[in-house]
Amino acid sequence: MAATSKLYHQDAYMREFCATVLSCAPCENGLFMVVLDQTAFYPEGGGQPADHGALGAARVVDVQLDGDTIFHYTTAPLHVGEVVQGNIDWARRFDHMQQHTGEHIVSGIIKSRFGFDNLGFHMGRESVVLECSGLLDDAQLQELELAANEIVCLNGEVRAWFPRPEELARLTYRSKKEISGEVRIVDAAGADVCACCGTHVARTGELQLIKFIGTTRHKNHTVIEALFGGRARNDYFQKHAALSRLSAFYSAPPLEVPARAEAERAAWEQSAFTSARVQQALFEAEAALCPAGQVAVRFCEGLSPDGARRYACALAQTCPAALVFGGQEGAYCCAIASHSADIRPVGAALALHLNGKGGGKPELWQGRAACTRQQADEITAQVLKEAGL
Ligand SMILES: [Zn+2]
Repeated sequence: MAATSKLYHQDAYMREFCATVLSCAPCENGLFMVVLDQTAFYPEGGGQPADHGALGAARVVDVQLDGDTIFHYTTAPLHVGEVVQGNIDWARRFDHMQQHTGEHIVSGIIKSRFGFDNLGFHMGRESVVLECSGLLDDAQLQELELAANEIVCLNGEVRAWFPRPEELARLTYRSKKEISGEVRIVDAAGADVCACCGTHVARTGELQLIKFIGTTRHKNHTVIEALFGGRARNDYFQKHAALSRLSAFYSAPPLEVPARAEAERAAWEQSAFTSARVQQALFEAEAALCPAGQVAVRFCEGLSPDGARRYACALAQTCPAALVFGGQEGAYCCAIASHSADIRPVGAALALHLNGKGGGKPELWQGRAACTRQQADEITAQVLKEAGL
């Protein structure tokens, strides 16, 4: 198959071009596989996804490289010999150029400052994930992020070229794998020199902003999730909008929101603790008033599973058995307690008849029941009678 001339290597900013159709064959998936004499469509490779766009009236939904031939997967057939106009989905491509160039800058600085290699990167729809061969602590990651943004700010040139063998021999460059044949080098404003076939922005200022949004360390590797360019800008807009809502909610300046949220959480926990103590006192007071020898059945909507357990255990101090339904009708939580009988069969029978499930020990059973109040009343009476309680 004829080699396709790669226009994207001559000019990464070429959005439109004309080419002659060399072949067009139908695929099993309903698409058509088109080969042109030249193309500005970048095929998937080197971690960069394939371009999308149009060839004449046909949409291009995938582009792949096999040997020196580039295959365009189109939604409609093209005539062999015709000259077609190609249009690149530029928003998609420029985003890829920003992500790709940003990855060079970050990986290059990791190598030069910390001596770690890039073990691979993935350009996802949302973010870029890159893994390096060593551990970077929080201070080093912050230093890295600032240094990468400094390269953006300096707006240096990103140059890609095919060096002659003698020039290549003198160059020190990163390479992810052994390369055979002609080697293309990209120099990202001095921050990185790397063998690469992808498309890049012309100047680092086009990256606008580099933001790390997540880092994880496992074993002795560090994985960085990063956003570059438009993705980082949009992330800032969205997070600012979210923080503004929280700021209004807490009536606090944006940067004081975390402290305010933590303080409210602590106050809520204290309040819940006090509430549980008051609740416990009420449970015990009611238990003291219960007629001896009578099984207690209580419905207390809104009570948590833990509250239902404490209520049932308190009542069982004076009653032979106690059943407490908390939660709400249709989604009850249930606790059964007894100090004199094994109440597990009672719990199992309730679960069976009330569309529920649960488990426990002889003196305490806890579960759930998806039933109405009327069903719970009727079945509880029936089950307690069968159990002889
Ligand atoms: Zn590259």
